[in-house]
Formats: sequence, C-alpha cells, structure tokens
Amino acid sequence: MDDFKEVQVTYELPLDGDGFLRRQCPTCDQQFKWHDGPANEEAEQHADADVYYCPLCGSPAEADHWFTDDQVDFIQGEVHKAAMPKLDELLDGVFKGLSGPNIKVKRTGHLETPVGPDPLVEDDDMVIVASPCHGFEPVKVPDGWSQTIHCLVCGERFAV
Ligand SMILES: [Zn+2]
Ligand SMILES: [Zn+2]
Repeated sequence: MDDFKEVQVTYELPLDGDGFLRRQCPTCDQQFKWHDGPANEEAEQHADADVYYCPLCGSPAEADHWFTDDQVDFIQGEVHKAAMPKLDELLDGVFKGLSGPNIKVKRTGHLETPVGPDPLVEDDDMVIVASPCHGFEPVKVPDGWSQTIHCLVCGERFAV
C-alpha cells in the first residue's frame, strides 16, 4: 500500500474581500476569521505561530486545528476525489495477484471517481479587530460581538 501515500490533494479555501479566512474554534465551536498570510510588513517579520488562541473563548489550539465543519467536508471531498483512481489501480493489482496458473480471477466493476465538492463561498461578514499587544495579526469577530476578545497570538484579553 506504499503507493497510496503518493496521492496528492490540492484544495483552495476561499478568502473574503479583505483577505480573511473563516476559522472555527475546536474548543467552543464558534467561528471567527484570521488574516491569511502576513497582514502587513511587521507581520512578515514574525515566524508563523505553532499555536493560536481563539479570539472568542481564549482557548489555545495548534495552528492546523481550526477548520470549519464546511471546510472539513470540502477537504474530505477533495481527498476522496484524488484517492479513488489510485485505489482503483491498487484493486486492479490485487485482482491480478489473485490469479494463478489454475485460477483466473477477473474483475468486472470499477470504482467510480466521485465528483469534487462544490466550491466554498466566503461572505464579507464580521468586523476586523486588532489586539493592542499583537496588532499585526488582526482577526474578524462576529458582528455585534460585545464580550472581551483574546489576542490570536498570545491569548491576552482586550476590549474593543
Ligand atoms: Zn473558542
Ligand atoms: Zn497578543
């Protein structure tokens, strides 16, 4: 099954008009957005963080644990689409291996490659806020959010 690792999946998550990517906190399940890539020159000088803090509840999580439910469905759809032809090829090999001098095993069906998922759409909702401590890493919080906000980078609370 070593070949299976070679399946490459490319997918693109849409950004909103301001260059922000929708995220979902793995702890509180609420959604916010962070800026995709460095927001400005100062941000470029900082290495990507390994851990980010949820602006809404303040819980930390690793940088790749912030996909929304829709993004997870979308990526899984892309993975299925990319993996199916490879799986089909592997099955062919399995069937050939089953045949011997006195036995013929013939495969009649094929796995169908699923159609890719519908592309995601990103609305220009939510409001931009920048923390006093790490202002180069702005986030977007839901419209009307009135509670304190946590800095994405260090988790420090601040009010807007
Ligand atoms: Zn949270
Ligand atoms: Zn901070």
